[in-house]
Amino acid sequence: MDSLINDIQVAFGDFSWTNALEVTAIAVVFYAGLRLLRGTTAMSVVRGMVLVVVAIIVIGRVVDSVVLNWIVDNALAVLLILVLLVFQPEFRRAFEHVGRAGGLRHWGSRGQPYRSLIPMTAAVAYRLSQKGVGGLFVFERDTGLEELAEAGVRLGAAPTPDLLESIFWPGSPLHDGAVLLRPSEVVAAAVILPSPPGDFATRGQNNDQFGGHLGTRHRAALTISEETDAIAVVISEETGVISLSAGGLLSPPLTASELEGALSRHLHSRRWGDRLGVPFMGRTSGPGQGAPTTAGGDATGS
Ligand code: ATP
Ligand code: MG
Repeated sequence: MDSLINDIQVAFGDFSWTNALEVTAIAVVFYAGLRLLRGTTAMSVVRGMVLVVVAIIVIGRVVDSVVLNWIVDNALAVLLILVLLVFQPEFRRAFEHVGRAGGLRHWGSRGQPYRSLIPMTAAVAYRLSQKGVGGLFVFERDTGLEELAEAGVRLGAAPTPDLLESIFWPGSPLHDGAVLLRPSEVVAAAVILPSPPGDFATRGQNNDQFGGHLGTRHRAALTISEETDAIAVVISEETGVISLSAGGLLSPPLTASELEGALSRHLHSRRWGDRLGVPFMGRTSGPGQGAPTTAGGDATGS
């Protein structure tokens, strides 16, 4: 116990403002890292590991155990590498978020790239929902989705409401899959998005709020918004519910005007929170909401 108190006294004895700065910088980096990993399996493991390591350090110092102190000195680096290897996909996604945060493509001079497509998509989503036709729109941002476009049917067309609506008509050969949008362009239709590996309940998604069921269209929307900075709009064929997916989260049911507002905020926002992919929407909505209502309010919580 004495050695622990001694260590603390020594550490604080020569504490200077540069140390304070260092501690603050490290704390900020850790905080940002933890926020990026929030809701992933890696996060639970990291949390568990930190608790065990802190316990070992404290016990080792209190009882002055040679073995425990040796473990702390020698095993930490190995443990860290092990975690990085096992949770490589989660860390890769987190680093992608950081990389995207530095992207400037849709900032500044580009102004509001999706200005005309936003109200158009909202109106088309409303009509599809009224007619009980399912749909899935994906808005590309800084992460290039060219590979997905190549696997779908390339259109390269100027967006019109009729085009966007007719693609999803059940008789249309292109109705299966997603429509990929870029500012002023309907890039491709019948785009198959990556399917999520495993169960959403274990990936930080509150699957239970959908009555334990999330169909493949909604899963595809969540996954693309989780793995890239794209924004997805889903129109449910079963319920007519319109929802928006961003940062790996699904909004509550939205009306056309709510969708328009939410899209504008997401696609034209310049806030660092958005750029870092920090989820700021409410969790997924309940099952069987019927037609879109105003109950969803501000889906983005912003
Ligand atoms: P809905 O509420 O409209 O029924 P859902 O989330 O329950 O949607 P499904 O019922 O499985 O999902 O919907 C199937 C349709 O979703 C497919 O016909 C296809 O058009 C679309 N879809 C499914 N998976 C993908 C995918 N990976 N990428 C793009 N579109 C997909
Ligand atoms: Mg379904």
